[in-house]
Amino acid sequence: YRFGEPSEIAVSTPNGIVTFGQNHPLVVVAGPCSVENEEMIVETAQVVKAAGGKFLRGGAYKPRTSPYAFQGHGESALHLLAKAREATGLGIITEVMDTSDLEVVAEVADVVQIGARNMQNFSLLKKAGATGKPILLKRGMSATIEEWLMAAEYILASGNPNVILCERGIRNFDRQYTRNTLDLSVVPVLRTLTHLPIMIDPSHATGYSQYVPTMAKAAIAVGTDALMIEVHPNPSSALCDGPQSLTPADFVELMQEIHPLAQYF
Ligand code: PEP
Ligand code: MN
Repeated sequence: YRFGEPSEIAVSTPNGIVTFGQNHPLVVVAGPCSVENEEMIVETAQVVKAAGGKFLRGGAYKPRTSPYAFQGHGESALHLLAKAREATGLGIITEVMDTSDLEVVAEVADVVQIGARNMQNFSLLKKAGATGKPILLKRGMSATIEEWLMAAEYILASGNPNVILCERGIRNFDRQYTRNTLDLSVVPVLRTLTHLPIMIDPSHATGYSQYVPTMAKAAIAVGTDALMIEVHPNPSSALCDGPQSLTPADFVELMQEIHPLAQYF
C-alpha cells in the first residue's frame, strides 16, 4: 500500500472492542432507518445482536427530502438508543445533522454518522471531528471520490484519525428500478488512495430489500471492511425506508449466508 498500513479503528462497545480495518473481521452494522419507539428499537437490537451484528444503527435526526415527512424523534430517540445499547451491549451508530446536536449525539453514539447530504458540510465535519468520536462519513450522492476523500480530510485535519468511509450508492438516471447505483468499484479504487476502512450500505444503494442480500455478498467479494444493513421488525409499517428494510428473518438468513464468505474475503 502506498500509504503504509491500513487504519485500524478500534471502537469500544459494552460487548467488547470492535475493530474496523482490512486485517479484521467484517463488521456488520444493522438496524432501522429511524428509531420509532422503545419496543421496536430494543427488539431490532436483540435480533442484530443474536445474528452476529456488532453495531445498532438508527436515526434520531432524519434528513428527509420533504419537510413534511417524518423528521425523526430527535433527542428522545437518542435515549431509546441508549436503552437498546444497555439491553444488548451493541455499539450505537447514529447520524448528526446539525452542530447544535453534536453534544447529545456524541453522548450516546459510539460512532457518529455524517449522512450523504452533509458530506460537504464543512463546519459540521470539523466540529464532529473535534468530538474525538469515530466518524462514519457517507459518500454524497453525487460526490466524486476526490470530494469524498477531501471531506474525510476535514475530519482528519481536525485531529481525529478515526474515519470510516461509507459508500451508499450514487445518483443514477434510472431510479425506477434502483434508488441509487451501488458503486462497488470504490473498494479497489479506495485501496489505492487511502488507508481508511470502508463500509458498504446496500440498503440505501438499492432501495429495495430484495436486492440487499445479493449486493451485500458482492460487497464482501470486493473486500469491504463493514456492511450497513437496514432492518425493521415490520418493514411495511416503517416510518421511513420500509421498502429497503430487511425483516428480522431475512436479516438472520443473510447473516448465516455471509458467515462463511466473510472468512474468505
Ligand atoms: C441513513 O443512513 O439513514 C441515511 C439517511 O443515509 P444516507 O445519508 O446515505 O442517505
Ligand atoms: Mn434510511
